Amino acid sequence: MSYTYKQDHIPNNTPHNRRPATEFIPTSITIHNTGNPTSTAQNERNWLTNPDNDVTASFNIVIDEKEAIECLPLDEHGWHSGDGSGSKSGNMTSLSIEICESGNYDQTISNAIDLIAKMLKERGWGVDRLKRHWDWARPSDGYRKICPRLMYDNGTWKTWKEFVKKIDNILDGNTEGDKVINKLPEIVKERIYSENGVLKKYPINTNGGKATDVRHIKFETGKYEFKFVYEKGKKVSQLVKDHKALFGFNAPYFNLQTAEIYGNAKSGDELISQAYGKMQKRHELIFKDGVPQIGQFGIDEKVDLMVQGAPKLVSNGNLAYDYYRVYDEVQDDIGKRTCQRTFAWIDKNGDFHLGIADGGTTSTWDIGLTLEEMALYAKEKGAVNALNFDGGGSSILVDKDGKGVNQSQNTGSNERVTNHAILVFEKELNEMSSAGQSTVAAYTSKIDFIDGKTGVKTELEGLIYNDKSYIELREVAKLFSSKVDWNNDSRKATITK
Ligand SMILES: [Zn+2]
Repeated sequence: MSYTYKQDHIPNNTPHNRRPATEFIPTSITIHNTGNPTSTAQNERNWLTNPDNDVTASFNIVIDEKEAIECLPLDEHGWHSGDGSGSKSGNMTSLSIEICESGNYDQTISNAIDLIAKMLKERGWGVDRLKRHWDWARPSDGYRKICPRLMYDNGTWKTWKEFVKKIDNILDGNTEGDKVINKLPEIVKERIYSENGVLKKYPINTNGGKATDVRHIKFETGKYEFKFVYEKGKKVSQLVKDHKALFGFNAPYFNLQTAEIYGNAKSGDELISQAYGKMQKRHELIFKDGVPQIGQFGIDEKVDLMVQGAPKLVSNGNLAYDYYRVYDEVQDDIGKRTCQRTFAWIDKNGDFHLGIADGGTTSTWDIGLTLEEMALYAKEKGAVNALNFDGGGSSILVDKDGKGVNQSQNTGSNERVTNHAILVFEKELNEMSSAGQSTVAAYTSKIDFIDGKTGVKTELEGLIYNDKSYIELREVAKLFSSKVDWNNDSRKATITK
């Protein structure tokens, strides 16, 4: 960064009390524009001690295209954001930075981003500590200063949001903060298989046996927006490009000939299809007010989106794929084969995860996943509830450049027309603070198990979800030195000592 930082503090006796020399403990940083298209940082510093200046206004730092000047020590407050609230005011709680409007403004902004990111880092603060002068309103007369005015954008504050996002990128370890606006979630690739009900992994790039590559993305709730689009004749890659999404992936089953979506599907209030027959008892993935959930909601639920899948793989923290394979009447080519897969789950923090598995080859890897392998994988990644979606040739994850991330390793890698996609967008920064938390809480906990015969109480590890407690049957069986066997045909569990 091509700017220098210098201290040139104004004297304690500067007229009009511009340096009250009162120490304070700042809790935020307030950003201003100087409001003067021609003055430089040095001009602004000189003005503070100019005898013609009769205003009580001052600031900690002013920055332009070539330098930052510290005019007040960073443990003393200035007069820049009065809101009439005394000790809680912007003046008394916030460091102030004036951004010059003169010269090469792009360079000035780039310098300011660098400086502010450093100041936040030093203090262990996030971008939630950044304030606009605008944020310090005077409630007594409803007055707000349009400042920093060059970030106002007729009230949308678009430039301000981008400015904050670039600083946030630097804090997240992305040093190219002023070039990269979107920090994408990471796609993690692992090569997995299962053996005797246990999930195993091969190192990537080893060809040791029957395994399959699966790609996993975690989308933190509150940071992204999800939209379901249904457009006949379109592939996921086209839909990602048309809608300028960050990612897109397939989800519900559909009819290859008629393009009809199977099961309950909604995009906002728009009804796309309704479940009938055996599909009525299957499970849905919904996003409601930005929060993902997997369950049985029904078509009347008010949602951002709703799609249906089968079978449910993990239910309230338990492996449930075989139970729901039978219950949901999933046909054998989906339920018993290995193939390419698209599956999703929600962890106990309410974050949404997507898994996309390769498959369809007869080589010694990328043979595809079984339901068990998906369920074990999702559970390893913290799934409370997980759901299987359409797989095989439909299974696809597309990045923002419209490239199929998983495509090259699937048999028949020509992308299929799916007529739909779930698209992922970055959420607007100003909405992040309010929607950052999931409303559905689930957590593992010690749960009291009471033996009805003897009254003996034992603490068992279980899951609390939606205010209900769940304990795995095999945990209970262990108490009685017994084991559990599940019979698919009779759909009964047998406990043997
Ligand atoms: Zn201001």
